[in-house]
Amino acid sequence: MAAKTDLSKVRNIGIMAHIDAGKTTVSERILFYSGKTHKVGEVHDGAAVMDWMEQEQERGITITSAATSTTWKGHQITLIDTPGHVDFTVEVERSLRVLDGAIALFCAVGGVQPQSEKVWYQSEKYNVPKLAFINKMDRVGADFFSVVEQIQQELGANAVPVVVPIGKEDDFRGVIDLVTMKAIYYDESNSGQTYHEEDIPAEKMEKARKWRANLVEKCAEQSDELLEKFLEEGDLTADEIQGILRRATIARRVVPVYCGSAFKNKGVQRLLDGVVCCLPAPNELPPVICERGGHQLEPNTEAPFAALAFKIVADKHMGKLTYMRVYSGSIEAGTNVYNSTREKRQRIGRLLRMHANRQENIDEAHAGDIVAVVGLADTKTGDTLCMEDKPIYLEAIEFPAPVISISIVPESRNDNEKLGEGLRRLADEDPTFTVSFDDETSETIISGMGELHLEIIVDRLRREFGVVATVGRPEVAYRETATTSSEGPYKHVKQSGGRGQFAHVCLRLEPLNPGEGFDFVNEIKGGHIPSEYIPSVEKGVVKGMLSGPYAGYPVVDMRVALYDGSYHEVDSSDFAFQTAGRAGFKELFAKARPQLLEPWMSLEVSTPEDYMGPVSSSICQRRGRIESMNDQHGYKLVRGMVPLSEMFGYSNALRTMTQGRATFSMHFEHYEAVPFALAEEIAKKRREAKKVN
Ligand code: GDP
Repeated sequence: MAAKTDLSKVRNIGIMAHIDAGKTTVSERILFYSGKTHKVGEVHDGAAVMDWMEQEQERGITITSAATSTTWKGHQITLIDTPGHVDFTVEVERSLRVLDGAIALFCAVGGVQPQSEKVWYQSEKYNVPKLAFINKMDRVGADFFSVVEQIQQELGANAVPVVVPIGKEDDFRGVIDLVTMKAIYYDESNSGQTYHEEDIPAEKMEKARKWRANLVEKCAEQSDELLEKFLEEGDLTADEIQGILRRATIARRVVPVYCGSAFKNKGVQRLLDGVVCCLPAPNELPPVICERGGHQLEPNTEAPFAALAFKIVADKHMGKLTYMRVYSGSIEAGTNVYNSTREKRQRIGRLLRMHANRQENIDEAHAGDIVAVVGLADTKTGDTLCMEDKPIYLEAIEFPAPVISISIVPESRNDNEKLGEGLRRLADEDPTFTVSFDDETSETIISGMGELHLEIIVDRLRREFGVVATVGRPEVAYRETATTSSEGPYKHVKQSGGRGQFAHVCLRLEPLNPGEGFDFVNEIKGGHIPSEYIPSVEKGVVKGMLSGPYAGYPVVDMRVALYDGSYHEVDSSDFAFQTAGRAGFKELFAKARPQLLEPWMSLEVSTPEDYMGPVSSSICQRRGRIESMNDQHGYKLVRGMVPLSEMFGYSNALRTMTQGRATFSMHFEHYEAVPFALAEEIAKKRREAKKVN
């Protein structure tokens, strides 16, 4: 049995970065330096180590795992995968939900890029304590201090260097540790596996003193007691600095800054020390509050078991793997748990801790652990797992409904089954991706959060499931809603031999605020409609909402009240009331000034100044709104909002327009009304295509 880990020695962290900052390389190096069976420095032959490292790479250090565990100086570190692409906001948010701290990675040349900004603010929303690592110090143009300033000014963070670089670009050799006031050099001959400390070279002393003073001052500001000591003595001890740095980082008042070059094997070990010293253990953060009941979950092993399933992965060999974060209590492999979200009992088959190059079977998982489970057949992302006699409900992870759809067919008819299986597995993994079948056109339809999202799905089908598929034109997921209230009676009466049908309902429709969904209110008094038929009416209304009367799109954000009606002793039935609910809703909805809604995306384009004109007009031509234009390291950053329906093929258009020099990212923001004339056109086309009357 795996020994129980001391909770104070657990660090669950993520690495946040925009694409290309070096997240993969840094993660690989972290796993390479830590968690190894041999001791650092054991192998003295540089060539042998290189060899070993290459082999390791060939075998594939698995950082594709949703959560990879390793150890560093007696601490269990679990790296939680955080996607680098902001188009996958949901993925970023769900990883932020389960991690306790993060490394924000920046490129020493590129600095704070628009995408890093977005992820940073998301992590602030989830109160995630952070360290910063300025990578690529070996690159031409690397500028540590400029990036520190950008983090302060553009992200508003109290960024405090804990190390400063020794040399830069080709001459980058190591770092000066401002806590211990020692120079750390990484041994080039040895893949940077070994490093040694020396006294700070004389010519670097002045700079080191200046930045040490800055560190001490920033630390002293965090505590009255230390401030007093600092004012009296002019310095603090390494222990005092370390202690306050930890507290201030966890309280998110300070962001310690480290630097290095992952590629050249420098600085990563000092970063790992920072993770251990400054980022919180699971029991150092405020307890998680349950959604129902509002009580707090203490991260201790004796408390009732509660865990959040945060990621599902279809593994080639093991089948469905569910990653869970345990918030309190313990669980053993081979026992049953209760999925309180779905009210289902589930069996924990195996419990696995995923390492870089192996999986470890474990017997138990405890509060603070992030592990993979084999065997949770009916569990989906965002579900709470607990004990049946002590049900707990964690706040569910909210996933927006897909906003774009395309039809998909395999190139070879023989692959039909494989396509179905692949799509099912991918939909299992990704709650923002859905698969449906259109009866009218006999097509398989896949839906997701954007063109890029679906492109990646199609690519994964090819790579992971061996199915080459072609897709149709993307279609936007429009919705319908009402803009005013309407009310009135509807009678469903049929007398045609045999038993008749009778249902009489009086409904009131009211628009709700965007995002409020559907609300059904029963206002029947005096048994005018027997209680057994009330759910029938609701069911009918829900059916009516699936395909709205305006253009056949789903209806959202409505309250429907059933305020009166009547029934017939013999002729009333569940079916009759469902029919009345459905038809009554449709009739009243048509009177409530229906409106078509379309998804709007927030857009960011980073472009050289020369192309500002065409870029701005490309946004306006697409019915977009420009919200800001700022300078960002020699580029212009244009932010705005655009309707998704106008954005198909934008990446090609932008490439052509700017000779490939501009980049953009966008993600779903909210629904907005389609301008009336356009809505009429869309509705007409759709009615013609679908024969919706
Ligand atoms: P990711 O997209 O954030 O995962 O970034 P990668 O780790 O894949 O790195 C992107 C590119 O930057 C690759 O070509 C890496 O070899 C390179 N890279 C990563 N770290 C460094 C570094 O410290 N110095 C230099 N010069 N290149 C680096």
